[in-house]
Amino acid sequence: MQHWALVSRRTHPPIRAWSDTCMATDLRLPTDKIVRPDKDRFLDEVNPFEAMMSRFDRAAELLDLEPGLYKVLRHPEKQIIISIPVMMDNGEVEVFEGIRVLYNTSRGPAKGGIRFDMAVNLEEVKALAAWMTWKCAVVNLPFGGAKGGVVCDPSKLSMGELERLTRRYTAGIMSTLGPDSDVPAPDVNTNERVMAWVMDTYSMRVGHTVTAVVTGKPVEMGGSLGRREATGRGCMIVTKEALRHLGLEIKGATVAVQGFGNVGSVAADLLTKAGAKVVAISDKSGGYHNPSGINIPAAIAHVQTHRGLDGFKGASALSNDELLTLDVDVLVPAALENVITSRNAAKIRAKVICEGANGPTTAGADSILDEKGIFVIPDILANAGGVTVSYFEWVQDRGGYFWTEDVVNERLTDIMCRSFAEVLKLSSQHKVNMRTAAYMVSISRVATVHRLRGIYA
Ligand code: NAD
Repeated sequence: MQHWALVSRRTHPPIRAWSDTCMATDLRLPTDKIVRPDKDRFLDEVNPFEAMMSRFDRAAELLDLEPGLYKVLRHPEKQIIISIPVMMDNGEVEVFEGIRVLYNTSRGPAKGGIRFDMAVNLEEVKALAAWMTWKCAVVNLPFGGAKGGVVCDPSKLSMGELERLTRRYTAGIMSTLGPDSDVPAPDVNTNERVMAWVMDTYSMRVGHTVTAVVTGKPVEMGGSLGRREATGRGCMIVTKEALRHLGLEIKGATVAVQGFGNVGSVAADLLTKAGAKVVAISDKSGGYHNPSGINIPAAIAHVQTHRGLDGFKGASALSNDELLTLDVDVLVPAALENVITSRNAAKIRAKVICEGANGPTTAGADSILDEKGIFVIPDILANAGGVTVSYFEWVQDRGGYFWTEDVVNERLTDIMCRSFAEVLKLSSQHKVNMRTAAYMVSISRVATVHRLRGIYA
């Protein structure tokens, strides 16, 4: 196939083959020997764009995607880079870089978070925007994918500086924003407060209140009940479905959860309520292990008073690496990217991995987990509960009619169970793992709309 020439050209030579005598432009050099590390993360197993594209390529091959469509889906629709001048509290003007990428809007308005972080860069934002495209499509939401960010360290900004930065960034991307075109949400280092400023700035510019321009807002101004718990709840729902598929009982199933923030703590709490036994949890302070089961409400209360698990008494200490390789039924990585790699995948003993975090498993680890027969619920499906309830928020804002939390949870359960079943069916039909099947479902949905719409002009 013609498009496979493109794929094979992207295969990089092994990094270990370098030597000091190599030319400075040799792709085999370790990344820090070429130019700035951020420019070369493409060469690395842990680059998110690479991780996403290698899975995309595999699914595209199985779908036998037409070469033209393959090219279209490999490119973002729109990339905006802006300079954001901000008057700092000391009277000096500082200029920050802001990015917004709309990856694909064929199925509906672009949907994706805004992050404020020093590590924000165009390649990563592009990858994350593509990821959102596949995530929205796998649960069949009428959205495309986007992502945005500002290169800044919000911990060094005052509240006033953060507000001015947010408002000027919003003004800079006004041309794409709108409930019918581009709907941001919170992401790394942004929250309900930031979304309220985005919504207010947009509304002032268009001359009337538009709640549906962002999701993840405070409930008092158009946010949805159940949004805070939605991602962890979605993880619990698909974990139950996976165990059922494997003929395992949720009651008494042992669980280890890495990361005890929004996603991890809610997943741990709801899995416990469903009958599972959470034997290990962790956060950046380290891991906590109790083979008889951790008291999750006590751990949540500890985090609320101490802003983390540090000092939690109901368990013995273990490292985050040890937690990943515990002999448990279910592992929920819900903290960081790239924690399950080709280096530790062979040691993982869980029967099911539910990827609460985005990108916790590298492409290099996938085949090792497959060989071990570990059932992986991929991130684009496992943590899609959050964007699903964001969709509910957008629907409620546009209808001006708000649902009870029970209705939100019931509809979330329907969507997560249906999506899990669709991905599982394709995975059995094509004898591929759940990740490849999830990408196949997503890509074929986006591709179908492209075929139906054709190319404009
Ligand atoms: P959060 O900030 O609330 O929690 C992150 C947790 O990870 C914290 O407990 C933190 O201490 C822990 N952590 C940080 N560094 C760690 C380390 N080195 N080892 C172990 N734990 C560490 O974030 P969150 O909203 O729960 O998001 C977690 C992951 O889920 C991220 O990958 C995020 O992109 C993804 N995600 C979140 C949502 C959502 O709705 N919140 C939706 C989809 C995906």
